[in-house]
Amino acid sequence: MQTISPTDRKEFISNSIKFQIKNDFWPGYVHGYPHKKAYRTMNHIGIQDIWKPGLTELNLYIHIPFCERICSFCNLFKMAVGKNDSDLLDNYVEAVIRQIDHYKEYIGNPTIKSLFYGGGTPNVLSIKQLEKIQNKLHKEFTDWSSDVESCIECSPDKLNNDYVKALKEIGFDRVSIGVQTRQLLDM
Ligand code: SF4
Repeated sequence: MQTISPTDRKEFISNSIKFQIKNDFWPGYVHGYPHKKAYRTMNHIGIQDIWKPGLTELNLYIHIPFCERICSFCNLFKMAVGKNDSDLLDNYVEAVIRQIDHYKEYIGNPTIKSLFYGGGTPNVLSIKQLEKIQNKLHKEFTDWSSDVESCIECSPDKLNNDYVKALKEIGFDRVSIGVQTRQLLDM
């Protein structure tokens, strides 16, 4: 099987995006998530059965379920937050850290192949809050693949040079940007 280097992959993605922007060409998009009502509690299976010790590789996902605006089409797990919700966000960060402690027992120390922060809109968190999670992950997981990609989903209206620079400093090397629709729903 032909493999593609991380540098070639980044160049390919960059050229594809430039082509699409220049030619105003956007292929069709199919939303493939099950509706949130479709999710069920897995009573019959414990997390220790899924993440057996001895796991050698892992793709990490951190869910940040907050958005400043709620898109009309969205059925993902999220809630709207505003300027007065910094305590809620701090508490959520602490809860993520507690979960890392809890699940680390089952996960062990596998090679981390990729890291993705999705949501929601993860960049509703301050750099300080993100750094706290990043530090915890790097403290608990010490084996990171040499070509690991650390990506964060962001809304462009909260991105500026300083924020992007700081994201790089705390270990991110890719930003996934989506455009939000107007706020049509209050959640
Ligand atoms: S920004 Fe994303 S997660 Fe938030 S409401 Fe819109 S589509 Fe849903």
